[in-house]
Amino acid sequence: MKRIRKNAQPEAFLRWKALANEDWKPSWDNFQKPQKTEVHQALLQEQGSLCCYCGQLIAMDRTVDARESHIEHFVPGEKSTDPRSLDYENFHASCLKQGERGVPLHCGAAKGGWFDSELTVSPLEDHVESRFRYDARGHIHAASGDRGAAETISRLNLDREPLIGLRRNAVEGALFNEQEPLPIEVIQLVLEAAKKRQSDGRLMSFAQAIESVGRTLVPS
Ligand SMILES: [Zn+2]
Repeated sequence: MKRIRKNAQPEAFLRWKALANEDWKPSWDNFQKPQKTEVHQALLQEQGSLCCYCGQLIAMDRTVDARESHIEHFVPGEKSTDPRSLDYENFHASCLKQGERGVPLHCGAAKGGWFDSELTVSPLEDHVESRFRYDARGHIHAASGDRGAAETISRLNLDREPLIGLRRNAVEGALFNEQEPLPIEVIQLVLEAAKKRQSDGRLMSFAQAIESVGRTLVPS
């Protein structure tokens, strides 16, 4: 999980919420285009277009493919009445809005209404990145003794297919050539690139997994 730093909420969202009057209250149910699209875009922008939980790249274009991504409420609640349902600080962009038949859900779609203030790991935490490590076979592991990280992996199906395969492909593609690690100088360049955004603001898909595995391949 990569740490997310929140930006200010979009002006258009603030203005829309300020339209509240006696006859009309803003709510999740009437939160629609164009404000919803703008908020979704802003979330993807602040996340370098990576899913808040698994870190895979989400398509970022003008329309935002709703099947690929959704606005995730970190603290879930009754969407029509809970004030957090329109709290930008509680929003992230997660991959996967609709799963394919027979394939288990993951990330926000698997998390659903689960939230435990002790156990659910937030991508906003300062040290979130040290709570997980990854291996070259595509698995994600909780840091030793970290119950919250272990529970979050389990509840969000982060260590199941299809994520294992997608992560393995990303890690192998970035750091290995036919099972052999790339030369150390190249891996060091990949590690630097994995920290940076490209000119369009995107981060590398599964950047955190690539960094975690890459660091084990270079002498410290
Ligand atoms: Zn995801």
